[in-house]
Amino acid sequence: MSLPRTLGELRQSSFSEEKIRGRRVKDELRDNLMARLCHDGPMFPGIVGYDDTVIPQIVNAVLSRHNFILLGLRGQAKSRILRALTTLLDAQTPYIAGCEIHDNPYSPICGRCRLEIARLGEDTPIAYLTPDERYVEKLATPDVTIADLIGDIDPIKAARSGHELGSEMIVHYGLLPRANRGIFAINELPDLAGKIQVGLFNIMQEGDVQIKGYPVRLPLDVALVFSANPEDYTARGKIITPLKDRIGSEIRTHYPASLEEGIAITVQEAWTQRNGYRLHIPKYVQEVIERIAFAAREDKKIDKRSGVSQRLPISCMENVISNAERRAIRHQEKVVVPRIGDVYAALPAITGKLELEYEGEMKGADFVGRELIRTAIAKAYDGFFKGTDMNQIVQWFDLGGQIQMADTAASSEALQALRGIQGLMEKLVKLNVGPKDSTESQVSAAEFVLEGLYAHKRIGRNEERVFAAGEKQPKPAEKPFEREDAPYRGRRPFN
Ligand SMILES: [Zn+2]
Repeated sequence: MSLPRTLGELRQSSFSEEKIRGRRVKDELRDNLMARLCHDGPMFPGIVGYDDTVIPQIVNAVLSRHNFILLGLRGQAKSRILRALTTLLDAQTPYIAGCEIHDNPYSPICGRCRLEIARLGEDTPIAYLTPDERYVEKLATPDVTIADLIGDIDPIKAARSGHELGSEMIVHYGLLPRANRGIFAINELPDLAGKIQVGLFNIMQEGDVQIKGYPVRLPLDVALVFSANPEDYTARGKIITPLKDRIGSEIRTHYPASLEEGIAITVQEAWTQRNGYRLHIPKYVQEVIERIAFAAREDKKIDKRSGVSQRLPISCMENVISNAERRAIRHQEKVVVPRIGDVYAALPAITGKLELEYEGEMKGADFVGRELIRTAIAKAYDGFFKGTDMNQIVQWFDLGGQIQMADTAASSEALQALRGIQGLMEKLVKLNVGPKDSTESQVSAAEFVLEGLYAHKRIGRNEERVFAAGEKQPKPAEKPFEREDAPYRGRRPFN
């Protein structure tokens, strides 16, 4: 299908004046959303875990033609949701070719286009925008200026050009006018200086704004969407009341409610499909990685108000796979199977994403990270092995047995050694792993059992990853897992 190339052709096409002239962005979003509501299937593909909470509220906001704000902690897919709104835009949007602000062919707001139409009439050339080209995103920072966001005037140039000051002909457009007829997303809105928020408000409300003291008229057509961290929303910065008042809906995001949803997001987002080696990620490794984030979100040593991003398990997963890849390449193994040892090796993907409270800072990020991994392993282990008698394995260690499980060790050698531990390999049936599975899978599964026993302190393990007898415990029975948190002492006081 070839698209009309002139205003005259456009008029005769499905992009008729009747259809396009008054079709504002928010009407378009609403129309396309209504069409999508008629069909089954996901409203926004790729957004996981929000079907019953965030998505219905966004649908309502769009149906209401609201500007809206997403409030949530870091790593809750706020930017991703805002970007997903482009799927509600028309496939092709005609505009006057060459216009910096993508003027509507039937009602241009800029002087250049009005002159163009006066000169060329029905031959005025038409160009088209795709949905992606109609999405403009800006991370708010305190140094964003009116010039960045709305535009600038060069008074000398203006005087020379003979245009009346304040005419849009002498405006160098900022981001917002360039988003005309599209979606403009501002992330971390409270970080925007109050003066800029006022400018933003004026242009939304009145269609005009003052730049360097000159009034400029810009009746833009933009769907404005924002995101903010609820902490900053009230504390660090603020949103000026008139602007806040103009934001129709305030929608709260959240972290995945269940482990399964968390795993689904991590699997979707992490870079797992790599060139080269075949990859098998065991279920328990996925679980341990996800449980690290869940444990961190509950841990008193970690700042609740900044949250623990979903990027933690995603980056962690990527590093875990890389560590397993490194081992597989070294030993020319056929399949990459991550082990729990690889999760410990992925500490660099974890520590940087934890905002520590005072107590956490005292202990250090590495210590806190290791403890979270251990907590995650213990919980995942319980899910698979609760009630399973592991005494035979523990006894093997108590009788002086030792085994080193370096994360770099070749699977073939490791399996040889693991088979020497009486009672171990047959327990792997609980993980759906048997003697017919790959060497790599069997080693990974067996190591998970040992790491689980270590996490429960039934056996010991040193820095060199040598598993050995644990310190003698008064009760031989398996204790329910307990964390070693010291009493909560709160944040570091300011003096
Ligand atoms: Zn124009």
